[in-house]
Amino acid sequence: MTQLQYSVCLNELIQKVEQARVMVSEHHIVKIIAVSKYSSSDDIKTLYSVGQRAFGENKVQDLLQKEQDLEDLPLQWHFIGHLQKNKINQLIKANPSLIQSIDSLELAQELDKHLKARDLNFDALLQINSAYESTKSGILPEHALEIYEQINTTCKCINLKGVMSIGAHTEDKKIVQKSFEITHKIYSQLDNASICSMGMSHDFELAISCGSNMVRIGSILFNKI
Ligand SMILES: *Cc1c(COP(=O)(O)O)cnc(C)c1O
Repeated sequence: MTQLQYSVCLNELIQKVEQARVMVSEHHIVKIIAVSKYSSSDDIKTLYSVGQRAFGENKVQDLLQKEQDLEDLPLQWHFIGHLQKNKINQLIKANPSLIQSIDSLELAQELDKHLKARDLNFDALLQINSAYESTKSGILPEHALEIYEQINTTCKCINLKGVMSIGAHTEDKKIVQKSFEITHKIYSQLDNASICSMGMSHDFELAISCGSNMVRIGSILFNKI
């Protein structure tokens, strides 16, 4: 795509997010993360040139590669994929500004151990499987508050900032909405949490109406559909 096409896509997205967020409240601010997992470093550069700063990747290797390709740009990187334990060292090297996908206490504790050894701190979100889908990773809602608390008390090098969810995979809006509501309810019960990351290309408006303040948008922004 050309710079102009990217500009049009981004502006359309910003307008839709704007409309959805003011319906919640004038004070409800929503951050857009551009999910670049389907896209090249050149695509990212073009989207950056029209104003986008925060990008998300779901594979540690791709994150490292794109960070390296684009190291001269002031980008903010988010890790949004399932983290395998054998990739922890590489993820630490990538040093993302937010890990959105802590999906078990065990993973948090393993990451914490590696961070402690290097005297580092990372910001992260707890991923919640509020759609109860076996294909999705994340903590089941009924365990989320307890696990969140356990990570807070046992993992001193991980600063939990809130929660992340992927909406239910169905055309039935009521079911998708229910999954967002479950995650937002958990978010609202947390002390000191500031990020509720929900909503992707096909459901971000619904997610915002349910209280999301961070949307992760890939295909409609990079025009892959
Ligand atoms: C791919 C992905 C997205 C973006 O999905 P789109 O439907 O392309 O907007 C958001 N969040 C996660 C965790 C993803 O893996």
